[in-house]
Amino acid sequence: MDLRTLFLAQTALLVTIAVMLWLARGVADEANGLRCWTWGIAAEGLAYSLLAGAGHLPAWLSGGVANALGALSVALLFVAIRQFLGLRWRWLPLFLMGLAVTVVGTAFGGRYVGATIFNGFVYGLLQLLNAHVLWRLRRSGASTQASDGLARVQGLVALAHLLMGLVLPARALLLALGAARPDYLDLSSGWQQPVFVFSFVYLVICCLGFLLMCKMRAEQVVRELALTDGLTGLANRRALDEDMTQALNAATQSGRSFAVLMIDIDHFKAFNDQHGHRAGDAALRQFAARLRMQLPAQGRAYRYGGEEFTVMLAAADATQALAQAEALRAVLATDLASPEPGVRSASIGVALWQPGDHADRLFGRADRALYRAKAGGRNRVELQA
Ligand code: GH3
Ligand code: MG
Ligand code: MG
Repeated sequence: MDLRTLFLAQTALLVTIAVMLWLARGVADEANGLRCWTWGIAAEGLAYSLLAGAGHLPAWLSGGVANALGALSVALLFVAIRQFLGLRWRWLPLFLMGLAVTVVGTAFGGRYVGATIFNGFVYGLLQLLNAHVLWRLRRSGASTQASDGLARVQGLVALAHLLMGLVLPARALLLALGAARPDYLDLSSGWQQPVFVFSFVYLVICCLGFLLMCKMRAEQVVRELALTDGLTGLANRRALDEDMTQALNAATQSGRSFAVLMIDIDHFKAFNDQHGHRAGDAALRQFAARLRMQLPAQGRAYRYGGEEFTVMLAAADATQALAQAEALRAVLATDLASPEPGVRSASIGVALWQPGDHADRLFGRADRALYRAKAGGRNRVELQA
């Protein structure tokens, strides 16, 4: 195998990807680490082009500058991974690492063995750290299609880093012990060829993997936004429709019932008229926070729209559903005599799932119950069987 050609192919691959990422740069890149990653692989691509010129270029270029670029790249990729995972890092140890690698690379000049041994241990350690955090933090939050995909790809990228973290020190050890003949560029006798092939595959896995990780993270963020109400932070109407479909299917299969609560704040228009819409918004946020805090363990609250909220909760029968709704109404009703502005109470209509129910029928019953609660004087719970 011709190593110069392989190195130049790696340069072409990395620089091309870096240029394309730079062309496609966006605001999200800063937070997810992609900007750092782009500069990291650009530096690595340039380092490989100088390494390919060893023997033809002055030693300070193919030794010193190439190693400095290589260390810069390792440091930037290390930071990119930590940015993606939301971890902290410090530049000083990375700078010292880069300095040491550059000094050693320059000192050894064209003789690559010394630099390879030194870099093998330093880079190996950093790769093991990368593998550790990537593996440990591959799951956060609830399991969704996007988060499962992200966990799988992140696991693969972690594995590639782990292998590199083992291969580099192992090669360094073999060279340090003199157990293996130096094997490089024009001296190639073959024993290191699998290592170089692996590093090519490693680059592809890491570059493609990191991009896919960013893509899936973006998908997660967009999906979360699409399912969240902007004012209150509660799940929104779209989330309610999705969950309702699932709950109806589950109830039909298992026969286990659940309750739908339609909650409507009392006299909210008067509150707005008296205190203004900004104060109304703040009151809605406060009401939503109280609602979320007081939910039973398996309940979920949604903003249906305006000053109306929906709660879905597991309830075996009407008595249980009514008791849970009544408990909720009691904590949502604040001091009715207080002179402070605030939402004083809400009315709740309850409907219990019955075999054969579809969403419209269930919501229809909850609406009718809510209407009766309003008509009956507000700040009360009604159930429509
Ligand atoms: P009721 O007790 O019969 O429910 O009376 P109500 O005043 O609460 O009901 P109505 O339907 O007459 O008025 C609802 C009010 O909710 C009108 C609207 O201005 C207010 N509202 C809806 N969405 C928002 C919002 O996002 N922010 C604010 N500040 N007000 C909102
Ligand atoms: Mg209303
Ligand atoms: Mg109302």
